[in-house]
Amino acid sequence: MEIKELHVCIKRIIDVSLDIEKEKQKASSDLKTALEHEDVIQQAYAYQRLFACSIIKKDTVDARYYKAYATQYAIHLDEPALLLINHQLCGLFYLDEEEALEYDCKALMIAKKLQDVESEARILYDIATIFDKRKDCKAKDFYERSMQLMDKNERIYPLLMAHLFTLYTKSDPLFAIQFYDEHCSFPQFSSFIHAYLDILYLYACRNKLPFMQLESFLKKPMCDASTYWMLEELYQVALQIKDQKHAKQILMLLCENGEHDQIQQLLKIQDYVISYSETFPCAYDQSMLYQDYVHLSRKLMIKKDAQISHRYEEKLQYYELLAQNQILKQQASYDEVTKLRNRQRFQIDIEEMMQLESIQSIGIAMCDIDNFKEYNDTYGHLFGDQIIRKMADILQSFADDNITIYRFGGDEFLCMFVNKSKDDISCYLTEIFIALEKLPQKLHISAGYTCLSIECIQSLKEMIHHADTALYQAKNCGKNQFMEYVEQEA
Ligand code: GH3
Ligand code: MG
Repeated sequence: MEIKELHVCIKRIIDVSLDIEKEKQKASSDLKTALEHEDVIQQAYAYQRLFACSIIKKDTVDARYYKAYATQYAIHLDEPALLLINHQLCGLFYLDEEEALEYDCKALMIAKKLQDVESEARILYDIATIFDKRKDCKAKDFYERSMQLMDKNERIYPLLMAHLFTLYTKSDPLFAIQFYDEHCSFPQFSSFIHAYLDILYLYACRNKLPFMQLESFLKKPMCDASTYWMLEELYQVALQIKDQKHAKQILMLLCENGEHDQIQQLLKIQDYVISYSETFPCAYDQSMLYQDYVHLSRKLMIKKDAQISHRYEEKLQYYELLAQNQILKQQASYDEVTKLRNRQRFQIDIEEMMQLESIQSIGIAMCDIDNFKEYNDTYGHLFGDQIIRKMADILQSFADDNITIYRFGGDEFLCMFVNKSKDDISCYLTEIFIALEKLPQKLHISAGYTCLSIECIQSLKEMIHHADTALYQAKNCGKNQFMEYVEQEA
């Protein structure tokens, strides 16, 4: 037997752990022959094999016995590859962790010297498992180092991933999710899906959604009933926290994989959310809810349940009509050219907003493109439209959740600021002016703004008028500037 063969043989014993009795018998008979021939090398090899077998059989008495021989022979022969095998085996022999670690460290040094990456990865893994057992945080580091070196086809690779994933779920759940996403194509890894969903669920409940990860996950096929159940939970969480985009994605997956009564259950949830959303408009994008409802009931009908189908048909028609209305309403609220909200929508928004208790102040800025007619006259209407779109994009790109941009008419935009100070508005407009200066083509605007705390607002019409007055002044003072409205002395 060559040293390479010994390596393969030991690996087979440790990894496959099959027919250990047979392996042991073979090694014993090889040992006998080697003793007869006084072949020290073969004796040494046979002792390593016997040692490996007794470790796997968890026969500590034998293991202790063979360890002594195997180690003595290896040291005596002083052959690095043999010492490596021996130290690795001693590292695996778990009676004394400290001693095991010592052997592993020695083995690691030899493996490095021999540039035996495969063994190095394995030893790092062995060291990691010892630390892991002790709940020592060094385990993670060693698993990670091992993972970098280990071949994906190694038998222990899935184990390595499992250990790492488990550690991440405890120390850094968000990273665990990312880790899962990166490796879930790995067949053995799919069994961790529950742990994965658990974390998602936990985070979803805490409202700190790692749902961005969910997207890649949803592309994968559903595995079993409990995954379905967990996804259903997740779906409800997504709805609760009004993340409708992800709720929809999960719903579609559930719908595709669900049995008849599971889909009925989903319809019930959907029905509940719809009735809630009708009581509290603004809470949800209703058209999306209706569409989902329609989708679900269609699915039930495909499954040809006449009774259910009949029961839902009327409801379905009603919701379809509502969904259509909602879409029409939405179309009527948005400007075709810029996709911004329009003047009509501003009225609706402002009425809804004035009801909210959280509003402390409102600011209005009117912005109008300077000499816009020239673009139309020189380059045509289509180019003029492009300029309007560009302007809309810039205004939108600097807006946050408390700034809403409306196309108010022609080349005029209204920016509404909620709970922002005058300084905030001035900063926002400054940013816009800087962005405009950076454009390759000349595009200037003038703007006027006003900002009032909620107690001081008499009418919004008046505020718009004030912002308009300031805009007019900005135009009169030479354009390309913004001004705050100042009350004129009577
Ligand atoms: P000022 O600096 O005083 O604002 O000059 P101006 O040329 O921009 O004048 P004004 O704001 O009054 O001009 C608006 C023009 O915008 C008039 C109208 O023909 C044009 N317009 C209105 N709506 C659209 C549109 O949707 N697309 C295009 N291309 N032009 C539009
Ligand atoms: Mg103009």
